[in-house]
This record gives sequence, structure tokens and C-alpha cells, in this order.
Amino acid sequence: MTDAAAPPTVLDAVTALDLRYPRGWAEPWDRVGLVLGDFGHPVERVLCVVDCVPETVDQAFDVRADLIVAHHPLLLKPVSSIAPDTYKGRIVHRLIRGDIALYVAHTNADSADPGVSDALAARLDLEDLRPLAPAADPGRGIGRIGTLATAMTLAELTAFAADRLPATSAGVRAAGDPGRIIRTLAVCGGAGDSFLGDAQRAGVDAYLCADLRHHPASEHLAAGGPALLDVAHWATERPWLDEVAGWLRGELGADVMVSDVDTDPWTVHAVGPLEKKETQP
Ligand SMILES: [Zn+2]
Repeated sequence: MTDAAAPPTVLDAVTALDLRYPRGWAEPWDRVGLVLGDFGHPVERVLCVVDCVPETVDQAFDVRADLIVAHHPLLLKPVSSIAPDTYKGRIVHRLIRGDIALYVAHTNADSADPGVSDALAARLDLEDLRPLAPAADPGRGIGRIGTLATAMTLAELTAFAADRLPATSAGVRAAGDPGRIIRTLAVCGGAGDSFLGDAQRAGVDAYLCADLRHHPASEHLAAGGPALLDVAHWATERPWLDEVAGWLRGELGADVMVSDVDTDPWTVHAVGPLEKKETQP
């Protein structure tokens, strides 16, 4: 769609991304689209990241990226200052000085078709996909429900997910009977608490997402809901970067790279001997 003789510009990239991930598809609280950048600046290299944080900004400088496409918003809440002695202000200053544009596709990419959860589902070989929380238009919505190519126990599925998804220190943990046979699985990239009810109503055998918490998970299981798999947040969304990068490459003819910097905060995970019991006073 761009002139083959001239490199695409930030405006070309924004136009293409806005068409694929319309801003109107984002949740009302979300903030998506171009965060900063000069519309006329050429885009020869793009870096796709889950989080725009100092480590991925360092990487953008290292690879000489002209544009960062990020999943999570850098500036979600209103700010009254981007002074360079603040965490986010420093990122803004570095990007502007480095002539690196920043674009965010968040819940509008979650609910797209294909969207963030399609890439997650593909890693797990899920078939016959449909949205977990459908949007008004057919095919779109948050999360996906599918059938596993091979039925397996919850324990086997947990090991399978850990093998197929990007490696993190947090890994994958599951809740429910380890021997339960899982054929149908709901998945949701990112925090999935708010879709526990949708997974239960869908009648799936298990639900995989990130950031599950003690009380919602316990109460969901007590109510007879699907088994749960809790994955590191970054690992559920990192698969989408490959999909958006492949599409952007074709769309812009630019060099598009994917960041494998694990931006999850968790760096250590230990499990003590399970037979250990706390001593009573
Ligand atoms: Zn997320």
C-alpha cells in the first residue's frame, strides 16, 4: 500500500495499524493509538514489544528502530508532567530524542480477528475457535474458545502449555483436579479474572489466562467452574507479537522485529518439597 520507491512513514504505519485495530474497538477506559512520533519520519525498522519499558526502549535504540508497536499503553492514566526525572517521562524524552515513534494496540488488538488470543490459541493447537466474550460484530471479541487437537489431563496440559508458551520464571500453574480430562479450553491473553463467568457459562473444561487471584479462582472452582491455568502475563501476549510483526512486514515492507525481553516482573520461582508440613507450636 506504500510507494515502493520511498520508505513508509510513521503516518503510513499508523494508518495501517488503525485500520487493522480500530481505536473504537478499545475498551472505554483504554488508551490506544499513536502515543508520540513524527508523522513524516521514515519507518525502516519496527520493534514489537508487549511493554514499553526501559529495557525494551534500550533494545529499540540497539536495533535502530524507528517505531515501537507496544501492546500495553505507556500512558494509561492522565499525567500532568512528563518531566525527565519521572519513570515514564524519561521514556518519553528518550523516544522523542531518538526519533522513535510509539504506537499502542491494546484491548482493540485483544478484540480483533485475528487478535491477541488467536496467537495464544495457535500456540496450543486449539481448533474451531470462537470468541470467549463476543463483541457485537461476528468473529470478534475478547479471548477464544477452542478444542485441543489431543485431549489430555490437566497436569499434562499444564506441562504442554509451559512447553509451548514463551519461557518465564513464573511458568504455568493450574487449579483443579490434575487428572481431569481437558478437551475444550478457553484462553485469554493478559489478566483474565473478569471472564471467569464467561468461561463457566461456555462449559469449557479449562480456562487459561494470566494474573488469576486467590479469591476469584477459589470461588470459581467452588462453584463448579472449569479448571484454571495461570500463566505469566507477558507469556500470554508475546505470541501475538509474531502475528502482528508478520502482517506489518507485508503491509509496510519494513524490517519488523519482535522483542523477546521478558517484561514480567517475576524473576525467580521456587517450589519446596511438597511433603513438607509446617510444624505446629
Ligand atoms: Zn496485557
